[in-house]
Amino acid sequence: MGSVIEAVARFPRAPLLTWATPLELQPRLSERLGIKLLVKRDDLTGLAFGGNKVRQLEFYFGKAQAASADTVLITGAVQSNYVRVAAAAAARFGMACHIQLEERVPDVDAVYRTSGNVLLDHLLGATLHSYPVGEDEEGADRRLAEIAADLTSQGKRPYIIPLGANHPPLGALGYIRCAAELLEQMHGADRLVLGSGSGHTHAGLLFGLRALGWKGPVTGICVRRAATLQAQRVESLCRRIAEMLEVANPVTPDDIDLRDDVLSPGYGRLNDAVADAMRDSARLDGLLLDPVYTARAMAGLFALAADGRVAAGSTVIFLHTGGLPAIFGYARDLHLKVMGRAPI
Ligand SMILES: *Cc1c(COP(=O)(O)O)cnc(C)c1O
Repeated sequence: MGSVIEAVARFPRAPLLTWATPLELQPRLSERLGIKLLVKRDDLTGLAFGGNKVRQLEFYFGKAQAASADTVLITGAVQSNYVRVAAAAAARFGMACHIQLEERVPDVDAVYRTSGNVLLDHLLGATLHSYPVGEDEEGADRRLAEIAADLTSQGKRPYIIPLGANHPPLGALGYIRCAAELLEQMHGADRLVLGSGSGHTHAGLLFGLRALGWKGPVTGICVRRAATLQAQRVESLCRRIAEMLEVANPVTPDDIDLRDDVLSPGYGRLNDAVADAMRDSARLDGLLLDPVYTARAMAGLFALAADGRVAAGSTVIFLHTGGLPAIFGYARDLHLKVMGRAPI
C-alpha cells in the first residue's frame, strides 16, 4: 500500500509547499446544496497566489534541477495559472523563466491581456513570448523547443515543461502526494469533485486515492474538453503514471467519472451556471472561485446536487484548485454576468 508513495518519492522534487492545505467546511453552501460540503483549499498552497500547479511544478522543477537547468520554458493560456506559478518557482530557485502564451480564449479585452496572471508574470520577471493558436499542443511544444535551442546557443541550460500529452505526466505525482494528505484529513467522505483540465490533477488524485485504498467516486467536471475525450485523456494519463512509477494501475475505466453539462460555450468562457456558482460561493461563504476552473467545477457540483446525482445529506469534498488572479483578468465578464451590470 505504501509502495505508490515510495515510488513517487524516487522522483526528484523541488519543495515549494510548506504545509498541508486545510479541508474546510462551507456551512451556508452546504445548507444551500443539501449536502455537507468540505473544500480542500489548494488555493492556499502558498507560492505566489498558490493553486494546484504548485504541487505539480515541484516535480518539474525537481527534474530541471537534476538536469542542472538554469532556465525553464513553459506554455499556457494568456490567463494561465500554471505559467504564473512557474515564473514564481523559477524566481525562488534562481532560474530564468520563458513563458509562451497561447491564444486559447476568443473575444478577450485589454484587461484580460494585461491584468491578473499576465501582470504577475511580468512582475515575477519572466520573459514572455506569444503563440498564435490555442489548440495546437504539439506546435506550441515545437516552438518552445526552438526558443530553447536559441538559449542553448547563448550558453544557457534550458528545461522545457511540455504541454503535449506524449510526455511523462510528472505533474500528476503532486496529486498522488495530495491523495495521501487528503486521506489523513477526510473521514467518511462520500465523493470528491474537481475540475478536469489537462487531467494531471484528476488522474494523479484518482490514482493516488485508489492506490491507497479509497473507493469513493471521484467526479471530474470538464473545463476544456467534452467528457468522452477527457475520459480517454485521464485513462491514458493513469496508464502512463503506472508505467512511470513501475506499479500496477489501480484505476479501472469505471473509476473515470466525467461530466460536461456546464462546459458550453467552452474553455475560459462564462455561462449562467458558472456565474451563479461564483456568485453564490462568494456571497454565501466568502469563498472566492476563479472564472475558468473552480467556478465551473462548482457549477458542475451544483448541477449534480440539484438533480439528485449527489445524494442529499452526503459528504462531498470539493478540490479548490486556485486560479484566483484570473478573477482580475475577467473583470468585464464578471461585471456583466456575475454582478449583472456594467461597472460604474
Ligand atoms: C490548471 C488548473 C486546473 C486544471 O488542472 P489540470 O491538472 O490541468 O487538470 C484547475 N484549476 C485551476 C485553477 C488551474 O489553474
